[in-house]
Amino acid sequence: MTKTIAIIGGGVVGLNIALAISDRKLGDVFLLEKEPYLGHHTSSRNSEVIHAGLAYPPGSLKARFCVEGNRLTYDLLTNLNVPFKNDGKWIVAYTEDEVVAIDRMIENATAAKASGVSRVTPEEVLQVVPILRKPKAAAFSKTTGIMDASTYIESMKMRLINRDGVFVIFPCEVNEIDAAKHTLNTTNRGDMDYDIIINAAGLFSDDIYRMAGGKRDFQIKPYKGEYYTWRLDNFDALIYPVPKSFLPKADATQTSNFGIHMHKAVGGEVYLGPSQVAAEFKDDYTINTPPEEFIESVSYLVKEKPSIDDVMPAFAGNRPKLFESGEAVSDFEIFRDGDIIHLLGIESPGLTAAPAIANYVVSMI
Ligand SMILES: Cc1cc2nc3c(=O)[nH]c(=O)nc-3n(C[C@H](O)[C@H](O)[C@H](O)COP(=O)(O)OP(=O)(O)OC[C@H]3O[C@@H](n4cnc5c(N)ncnc54)[C@H](O)[C@@H]3O)c2cc1C
Repeated sequence: MTKTIAIIGGGVVGLNIALAISDRKLGDVFLLEKEPYLGHHTSSRNSEVIHAGLAYPPGSLKARFCVEGNRLTYDLLTNLNVPFKNDGKWIVAYTEDEVVAIDRMIENATAAKASGVSRVTPEEVLQVVPILRKPKAAAFSKTTGIMDASTYIESMKMRLINRDGVFVIFPCEVNEIDAAKHTLNTTNRGDMDYDIIINAAGLFSDDIYRMAGGKRDFQIKPYKGEYYTWRLDNFDALIYPVPKSFLPKADATQTSNFGIHMHKAVGGEVYLGPSQVAAEFKDDYTINTPPEEFIESVSYLVKEKPSIDDVMPAFAGNRPKLFESGEAVSDFEIFRDGDIIHLLGIESPGLTAAPAIANYVVSMI
């Protein structure tokens, strides 16, 4: 008998899971998305960076799926004809503490099996990115890249809707799950029977967990990342400060907080961001941080800081920060509860990790 598998959530994670199920012919897939567009939330509101996995704790799911997902994502984007650049990223240190942190980050990357990162001289960075202030130390990650996430989502949709046994349905909001009867209800498309549900609802995955009768005390709090554009012609790179988690006396749980960085998107815009502020609600995408704060944050990176007229508010995305019984959970939380597979706290590097997460999830079906 063919299994009926309902995936709740049409972001990059749900889309990759749908593709992996269809590739392995594990059943009929119903991808249910509440918004009128796929990827409307976090999947289209991020830095679009294909991370190498330098900063995640060795042995964590984030480290494992980021390293594996890096390779799989490049293959997938190539296969889908999605624009991307693999020009690497520069990590720059300006204080003695940051110099120590750069070495710690490289040790961490080696332990986490993230390849292609090495120390480079400040002169080498300046040769490629002359607008920078001369750092005290620097590193280069050659497997880091950047993609066009909107085209990725659209291409995944096109690939899926042409498959037998795959049904991509939106807008279609799941509002009730009866786990005992194996039925779910949607706001605008009625009921459906299922054999397995995959909860890939991103910011809303704690709501789905509770809807399915889950007993653990999960809560997802949205942490906003705002971006500004910077009108800047002579810049084409990814520049990151040293991850804060490696600084002496750092909070080691802050593994996804890389600080404000500068990057040139595949489309050509230069972005500053993301900030890290608590959002009022899960789809609060307003930009409230004033431009002066962004200018201040990048001023230690560059010789000439942007003027107020050079920066413009761009967009914001919300990190789905997971808490269990009030305690922050720092890793992805992926588990099966009866016939429902839940994915909670899929924050960065979820865009990179999505194909590897999908392989893991299908191994649980
Ligand atoms: C500021 C920021 C920067 C980031 N930068 C990077 C980066 O550079 N590189 C990287 O690898 N990762 C990055 N990430 C992380 C990455 O964007 C996410 O991990 C990834 O997009 C998560 O995808 P998802 O499919 O789990 O979630 P989402 O894209 O949020 O998809 C979940 C979907 O579920 C739908 N849904 C919810 N409830 C229901 C319901 N009841 N019924 C039907 N559908 C429902 C939602 O509408 C949504 O479309 C960043 C994240 C943020 C916030």
